[in-house]
Amino acid sequence: MFGIHGLESFATVYNPEWGDQAGQLTGTQQVRARGRAPARLTLRLEKCFHNEQAAGRDQLEDPRHLGPVKIIEYQNRIKNSELRPLALEVQLHPLHGQTGRGAAAAGDVEGERIAVCRDHLGAQLGRGQAVPPFSARQIEHPITHTYPMSMPEKPGAWPHARRSLERATLEQLAAHRADLLVIGGGINGAGIARDAAMRGLRTILVEQNDLASGTSSRSSRLIHGGLRYLEQGEFGLVLEANRERRILRRIAPHLVWPLPFVFPVHEGDRISRWRLAAGMILYDLLALFRNVRPHRLLGKRGILEAEPMLRDRGLLGGARYYDAQCDDARLVIATARSAIHHGAHVATYMAVRGLERTAGRVVGAELEDRLTGERGVIRASVVVNATGPWADRVRRLEDAGAAPLLQPTKGIHVIVERSRLDHREAIAFTSPIDGRVMFVLPWGDLSYIGTTDTDTAEPPDELSVSADDIVYLLRSTNARFPSARLSVEDVRATWAGLRPLLADQSHTASNRTREHALVTGSGGMLTLVGGKLTTYRAMAAEVVDLAMRELRHRDGRQRHTDARTDEDPLPGGETADLSQFRDRGLELGVPPASVDHLLRHYGTEAAGIFNLAGADRRLLRPVLEPHPAIEAEVIHAVRRELAQTVEDVLVRRFHLYYEHPDHGASVAHRVAELMAEELGWNAGRIQEEAERYLQFVIREGW
Ligand SMILES: Cc1cc2nc3c(=O)[nH]c(=O)nc-3n(C[C@H](O)[C@H](O)[C@H](O)COP(=O)(O)OP(=O)(O)OC[C@H]3O[C@@H](n4cnc5c(N)ncnc54)[C@H](O)[C@@H]3O)c2cc1C
Repeated sequence: MFGIHGLESFATVYNPEWGDQAGQLTGTQQVRARGRAPARLTLRLEKCFHNEQAAGRDQLEDPRHLGPVKIIEYQNRIKNSELRPLALEVQLHPLHGQTGRGAAAAGDVEGERIAVCRDHLGAQLGRGQAVPPFSARQIEHPITHTYPMSMPEKPGAWPHARRSLERATLEQLAAHRADLLVIGGGINGAGIARDAAMRGLRTILVEQNDLASGTSSRSSRLIHGGLRYLEQGEFGLVLEANRERRILRRIAPHLVWPLPFVFPVHEGDRISRWRLAAGMILYDLLALFRNVRPHRLLGKRGILEAEPMLRDRGLLGGARYYDAQCDDARLVIATARSAIHHGAHVATYMAVRGLERTAGRVVGAELEDRLTGERGVIRASVVVNATGPWADRVRRLEDAGAAPLLQPTKGIHVIVERSRLDHREAIAFTSPIDGRVMFVLPWGDLSYIGTTDTDTAEPPDELSVSADDIVYLLRSTNARFPSARLSVEDVRATWAGLRPLLADQSHTASNRTREHALVTGSGGMLTLVGGKLTTYRAMAAEVVDLAMRELRHRDGRQRHTDARTDEDPLPGGETADLSQFRDRGLELGVPPASVDHLLRHYGTEAAGIFNLAGADRRLLRPVLEPHPAIEAEVIHAVRRELAQTVEDVLVRRFHLYYEHPDHGASVAHRVAELMAEELGWNAGRIQEEAERYLQFVIREGW
């Protein structure tokens, strides 16, 4: 619950990315009155917040004293450079009298019927009393970003106004011809959709499962220059990746954070000390000396002081250097949400089953809605295949005889309790088995170890983790952390991913290039393959540049070309200073561990979750102890993060599947119940969804 102290101290801001759940409480705000009545207002949100004034000092927490607050979006459709989406009209109802309620609740509200807080009017308002029109107020977001007003090129041609975070339906997608259809909701598809939408293209993104359900949630979760690519001489890639690391830390500080690494060198290691030292200098150079900190070479003592559990026998020394870690799945979701904010339509569980052609050119796709079973056709001027390891399969829909572009390799990770290794920082080391560079990476109380890099013929949707892969990772780690004595019983969970690497018979799996390629197929479909999570933004820009050229070639229209993908923060990334949000969470009674967890995972958007829990304290309940997630996050996942199944919530949004010993099985039913309230599921459907998750755990569980 949070208080309304009167207009001067109550703060509600609306960011269009936050969709219809605009009740973001971000601390004390100044609320400035606008001098004129707005032309047309639309009700965006109505919520009852705890009214401390009415409750009195001794009943501050008593939830029975509710004061309604309405947030009304400015709907001035005239182009006006002064208007920004963050400017909104807020209506505070009289705290005691309910004047104006009927008018506002009706939907569109005319200026003269707006009610205001009686404190502001300086008069007692009685029930049903008329209220003057100057009451609408403009609120400024406390964070100083200015979002330019983006207008559809042809007003009305594309439903840009629909920035709902609900999954787009087949009917909505089929209603309009798109400029760009992006197939695949991994990091590349999401990045392309965001870039295209920011450039004003009418963009659709379809994903056959959940966002990030492919490779993009199965990575090593590193946003890194790629120290080991130096060995392959891929300096251009490292330079670009280092630049992207800086950008991603800036636009999504909550999702991409700096990570110090210790790299020990033991006798007989493939990488000697001098070679490591040379690599470190080059790595800093390719980061233009703008990494978190420059590297430091360490002697044996320095390494053991940093990481006492490392094997001391044969230890020669090593180095400390810096990269960044990320929440890969959340990075995809945030990027897709940003695309929606900029006007893209995003539909998960929407599979492309065929491609539409006119005169040999690909002009759309046949879709299957995997949640309803419906099928339909959508049209688009340019189609982009961003399906990662599935890319060759989708290319064959365009050209049955298309030569494969990919030669994927499989990589697995295992999760163990961090206390078993007791490492403080991330560890990079060479495996004594085959000399490959491996990582032990911290993740809260857990550590994940990876990765393998092996050729495989397994299809992307049937990847398995073999016992050999696990044994390889554990044996390599035990050799460096002798007291850990890890065995397969210590493995809490595993994940396997397929690197969509460019075909290159001349290199072994580990040495195959991480560069990307953009290929135009026989029907004009653009296919993106290769690359890394880290460089997605740069690759997306390249794809959209080509798509723009293609569009201009087709219709001769010049479109504006700038997309500030490197400046616009991703949702939740508006600031790295979250202290005011932290205080607010604690004030609302959110347990400190959950406050930290929410800020870490959601950035500024944690405020929305605090609000949910504040409005309904039952949502403060933990989802599954000792994990700090609270039930309000389930609601948030459905309303704002396009979650459609229990698996979407527990695997990719909460990572509970990987992190909790029971993989979230014991709470599948409860999570389904919470989702049901948002998605309108009945008792039968709740049961079905919970069982589907249990089947998933049995099938995938380690
Ligand atoms: C083990 C491993 C570790 C890695 N570690 C790192 C790392 O630490 N840092 C880094 O930068 N990179 C890393 N990578 C690489 C990085 O993860 C990938 O390059 C990146 O995730 C690929 O993204 P994508 O969008 O191309 O593919 P994906 O994430 O696989 O997305 C493709 C999507 O297309 C969808 N799709 C397929 N067919 C259809 C269809 N017919 N209709 C609709 N949708 C469809 C799929 O469901 C899928 O979600 C790693 C990769 C692996 C495997």
